[in-house]
Amino acid sequence: MLVRLMYASRALATVSQDDLNAILRKSKSKNPPNGVTGVLCFSDGLFLQVLEGGRSAVSALYNRIAADPRHTDVILLSFEEIGERRFPHWSMGQVNVTRLNPALLLKYSETAELNPYAVSGRVSMALVEELLATAAIVGPA
Ligand code: FAD
Repeated sequence: MLVRLMYASRALATVSQDDLNAILRKSKSKNPPNGVTGVLCFSDGLFLQVLEGGRSAVSALYNRIAADPRHTDVILLSFEEIGERRFPHWSMGQVNVTRLNPALLLKYSETAELNPYAVSGRVSMALVEELLATAAIVGPA
């Protein structure tokens, strides 16, 4: 059974580009054998991640990620059973923040900042889907 989970969290102030790269490398090596796909967005110290895959695999990964000391304030935004994946092509796609269009953020929120704590899970998912449609999501595959 497939599920899709989305959460947000605040990165520790010490988290650097090297840390982000390490997280993406780890995702690329560990997600495929577990059948997990998804996207990770990092902007203004906030993570927004969508995980898709089998219910057990996604639940186990979410619990592991939530306990990771590199971030805090992990908040579950949505969890649903799904018939098909939206992000089947990414072991963990990365949203290219340099290409985030302020108008796109304004379309879904009060200010042109990524703030999943201030909007519904449905809105955050709509934003991620639009990023996918505008090809703002990049590798690793
Ligand atoms: P190791 O990598 O050996 O880690 C062992 C322990 O050390 C873990 O508790 C780990 O959290 C901690 N750790 C590792 N590196 C650091 C560090 N630099 N600073 C502090 N503690 C550290 N993992 C995935 O497999 N797939 C994902 O999609 C994924 N997404 C993530 C998204 C975010 C926002 C974050 C913060 C982490 C993500 N991770 C992901 C990493 C995940 O939280 C675990 O660290 C990883 O899965 C554990 O891998 P491992 O079992 O090989 O242990």
